[in-house]
Amino acid sequence: MTYQSINPNDGTLQKSFEHMGNAQLDVALATAERCFQTWKHTGYAERAAVLKKAAALLHAHVDDFARLETLEMGKRIAEARGEVKFSGDILAYYAEHAESFLAPTQLHPATGAAHMESSPMGLLFCVEPWNFPYYQLARVAGPQLMAGNVLVVKHAGCVPQCAMAFEKLLLDAGAPVGAYTNLLISYDQSDRVIDDPRVRGVALTGSVAAGRSVAARAGQNLKRSTMELGGSDAFIVLDDADLDKTMPWAVWGRMYNAGQTCCAAKRFIVLDAVADAFLARFKTALDALKPGDPMDEQTTLGPLSTEAALLQLLGQVDAAVKGGARVLLGGQRIARPGWFMQPTILTDIAPGNPAYRDEFFGPVASFYRVKTEDDAIALANDSDFGLAGSVWTQDEARGRRLASRVDTGMMFVNNIDWTDATLPFGGIKHSGYGRELGRMGIQEFVNKKLVRSGAIAAPG
Ligand code: NAP
Repeated sequence: MTYQSINPNDGTLQKSFEHMGNAQLDVALATAERCFQTWKHTGYAERAAVLKKAAALLHAHVDDFARLETLEMGKRIAEARGEVKFSGDILAYYAEHAESFLAPTQLHPATGAAHMESSPMGLLFCVEPWNFPYYQLARVAGPQLMAGNVLVVKHAGCVPQCAMAFEKLLLDAGAPVGAYTNLLISYDQSDRVIDDPRVRGVALTGSVAAGRSVAARAGQNLKRSTMELGGSDAFIVLDDADLDKTMPWAVWGRMYNAGQTCCAAKRFIVLDAVADAFLARFKTALDALKPGDPMDEQTTLGPLSTEAALLQLLGQVDAAVKGGARVLLGGQRIARPGWFMQPTILTDIAPGNPAYRDEFFGPVASFYRVKTEDDAIALANDSDFGLAGSVWTQDEARGRRLASRVDTGMMFVNNIDWTDATLPFGGIKHSGYGRELGRMGIQEFVNKKLVRSGAIAAPG
């Protein structure tokens, strides 16, 4: 049994679900493929009506969707509400803009006429993580349904009710059966889906390990894929940073969603001149967070999603300490029911310590003191990941110059306002490839077809 809702606040099992059998899976794929044959011919207006309705339903039932997510993966209720609303905004954004994003573009060859047109590729398989149970689904469903593709989706094992709620949302909004199908399947069945000739593309958001496995399988089948994987983002504080403005973002950047965000600030790289002041204030702010029921509006530190995630994080902290790191704050499980971990700051992390390279997916901050901005850039780039990062300075032009030197898919200067329906999201190196959101996100799984016309004489 791998699909289980367990309340991370107290460890109680809410519901369990069996995997679907292979026969049921085959029916789901056949239904999706049949749906594609009609969905691809529907107009943008008809598709947009479904997505606008789904967006309106999310906004009308924010609390219901949010409570389910807080129950299944422990997100604090105010954050969950924000995610639900934003998921609706993403669906509405693509409903509004898909037609213009995919409009034919004229080319200008020396002879004849030519244009590029965009047509849907077909049935797509999406594998999604639990940390944003709706937003991750909206990021693929919004653009891909508007592009005329249909989706079968494997969501994470710990959020089956959110997965089903999103499928129901689209059906309630008028999507035809087969346009979006939630699959409760095993990894072997996931391979089977990737191998299926009806499936034309694969999108995964998750860990590097999952990315390697799923991308390899897609590659064997010569299928297009996008990979949104982990990160170990640098938060670079320059000597002229305004700490009053920087500190709230430092705390939010590490602790939002209990630290379980791919593009969270994970490595705090601070120039010597402000390092002591930054560290003292950061420690005080993290220490002040209050663990509690994530349903309670007063709680400022929620649980981790699963006990396995908590144990993994505690093991990583132990390994870091064995490797010579110092625990400046926290480092322990919190003595109460549920999957709570103390806000933690690690310092003295030398290259060679596993903490130097690994991603901490929870409330653990790594602190590094550096002498110069060149040292900061070198350290930021000494990473297998390349998702995002940020630079903090009162000189915005200097911040932008440094941002250009960091090898990641996204950089932020004096904010980490990570995600916006209009802006592309994604990374390089082990953080993956491809982009979701914005104009780019809808181009990933469409056939960009060249059509050249004109009676050009054959070469003699
Ligand atoms: P995970 O273990 O990789 O799980 C993500 C999804 O992949 C789940 O649905 C999981 O299913 C599935 N999965 C894992 N291995 C698979 C395999 N071999 N075949 C088929 N499906 C497989 O990741 P996680 O630990 O839950 O999520 C956190 C990771 O995601 C972090 O590294 C984070 O940085 C990354 N992330 C990246 C982004 C981004 O946009 N770049 C966004 C959010 C999260 P089960 O749950 O059933 O195991």
